[in-house]
Amino acid sequence: MTAEREIIAAIRARAPRFRGGVRIGIGDDCAVLQPKPGHELVVTTDMVLEGRHFRREWHSPESVGHRCMARGLSDIAAMGATPLAVFLSIAVPAALAEPGRGQGSGKPSWIDRFTDGLLALAMEHKVTLAGGDTAESPGGVLTDIVVLGEAPKGEALLRSGAKAGDVIYVTGALGGSAAELAALERSPRWRAEARGLAKAEDGMHPQLFPQPRIAAGLTLRRRGLAKAAIDVSDGLSTDLDHLCEESKLRAEVDAAALPVHPLAMQAEQRGWAPSALKLALNGGEDYELLFTARPETRVPKQIAGVPVQAIGRMLPANALKPRMMLRNADGSTEPLAAKGWEHFRKG
Ligand SMILES: [Mg+2]
Repeated sequence: MTAEREIIAAIRARAPRFRGGVRIGIGDDCAVLQPKPGHELVVTTDMVLEGRHFRREWHSPESVGHRCMARGLSDIAAMGATPLAVFLSIAVPAALAEPGRGQGSGKPSWIDRFTDGLLALAMEHKVTLAGGDTAESPGGVLTDIVVLGEAPKGEALLRSGAKAGDVIYVTGALGGSAAELAALERSPRWRAEARGLAKAEDGMHPQLFPQPRIAAGLTLRRRGLAKAAIDVSDGLSTDLDHLCEESKLRAEVDAAALPVHPLAMQAEQRGWAPSALKLALNGGEDYELLFTARPETRVPKQIAGVPVQAIGRMLPANALKPRMMLRNADGSTEPLAAKGWEHFRKG
């Protein structure tokens, strides 16, 4: 067997199959999917590049696998959809597929541990790995994940559903992921701990093991609470800007209302990052849900076990004014620019 076929066989042997949705999975030319009657498919694709989205010195293989899956699932969550199937294409340098590959007593390879992280999260959300591709990479690791989900026809949550007057909400806390990235960069102790980390509880390592808000997204759709939604992948300011653009509205955010992650506070105190507020506004990869609800809608303080916080409001479009404003604690306002930062971007 070629190394590629061995990798596929090893992944296939461990990939869980869940009932419904996937009629034919790994092993045929195509997967055969069957969404529930009256449902539509939602599809998202996400590429992850070593050195761009993660560093092998900082992120354990399990973390890379988990994050790869989390990115895809987070988009499904933002649509209020149920994940059905995932397709994974991965290119790794030959050395990362050796030794062991999970057969016999050898140490697990990098790709074994990557698969552990990816499948652990897939199992948590009962999504079937239904296909993919592997190749040897001449350089670093590259993965491309496709996740399919289903939602009742016409009911998927969209970025375009907001109206002027809607209240803006966010789940969980913001800035933790970027704060942990700063910690990985600045703190040798943090790096040492991260290296062996195979999993983490929700919120403890927001950069290494973010939690996609699938259950919260489903509740927002089923109960008709959210009118527009997006996941916070690039950073609140950038993702809110997308929502404003698609809904053709402006927005105002209350700085004092932002649920700043405790790790972002810590990063500011320790000098790992200049401002916790900036991390919450612009630090991406939180994978929380940003959504709007009509002002008369009673939105619970907690949804599917995740805190929910009102952080601002949608305003009518006005070409003469900035698209987003930030209201400071003293009542003053300033324009809010979309500054979600891209990790490892130079200059
Ligand atoms: Mg998204």
